[in-house]
Amino acid sequence: MSSSSTEVEQGRESGRKTSPGPILLLGAPGSGKGTQAKEVIKIWRIPQISTGDLLRANVAQGTQLGKVAKEIMGRGELVPDSLVEEMVAVRLQQPDAADGYILDGFPRTLGQAGWLDGRLAARPDGLPVVAVSIQVNYNQLLRRITGRRNCPVCQTIYNIYVNPPKVDGFCDVEGAALTQRADDTEEVFKERMRAYGALTAPVVEHYRSLGRFAEVDGDRPIAEIAAGIVAAVDLLRG
Ligand code: AMP
Repeated sequence: MSSSSTEVEQGRESGRKTSPGPILLLGAPGSGKGTQAKEVIKIWRIPQISTGDLLRANVAQGTQLGKVAKEIMGRGELVPDSLVEEMVAVRLQQPDAADGYILDGFPRTLGQAGWLDGRLAARPDGLPVVAVSIQVNYNQLLRRITGRRNCPVCQTIYNIYVNPPKVDGFCDVEGAALTQRADDTEEVFKERMRAYGALTAPVVEHYRSLGRFAEVDGDRPIAEIAAGIVAAVDLLRG
């Protein structure tokens, strides 16, 4: 454990010289994709691209996409591929995504995976994606989802059961009142799990069959999981 934590700390201090290229973080709702993405971007100094966050920003801003997505997200279903792909295409064109990025929550369907693979294959100098899935058991996921609270100002994620703020209901950093995502209820969690099993599990198999896939145990301390992700990507990139 100490050597893995050291690796994360060293990476954090120095940043890594070589970009790992595009990386997908996969995992069921509550597996910690967002938390881990925030950890590994500090190591690799590449951006996190979270389709969930981008969609929630569209909902908050009341854009056309946000109006369509709001209802769908509230039911725990997936937003249509074409809409999400268009949104990701715009984000990938931003200069900070030139050398690599962490995709958090995308692709979530085989259609989205095909779209991304095709787009990356069309770039002569680009690396293909490698995918890392974070494994967490069902009961743990449910606890994480229903206990999750977010700071609306600095986006820090807490969990009232395992990682509570110092003062109940308020962010340690900003002091802002914590919020709960509208889809972080047990009922919507069940539908999100159903969508994950039906639509996203095949994405895992897709990257596994291409030999560009690894799994890490997500039921460990945050730094250890991050070190596991870094090690898995190093191995996949050879
Ligand atoms: P997340 O924050 O990744 O848990 O995503 C929250 C919700 O946003 C999901 O339950 C979906 O409704 C929607 N969403 C996020 N990413 C995608 C995606 N790649 N494709 C379709 N819907 C998505």
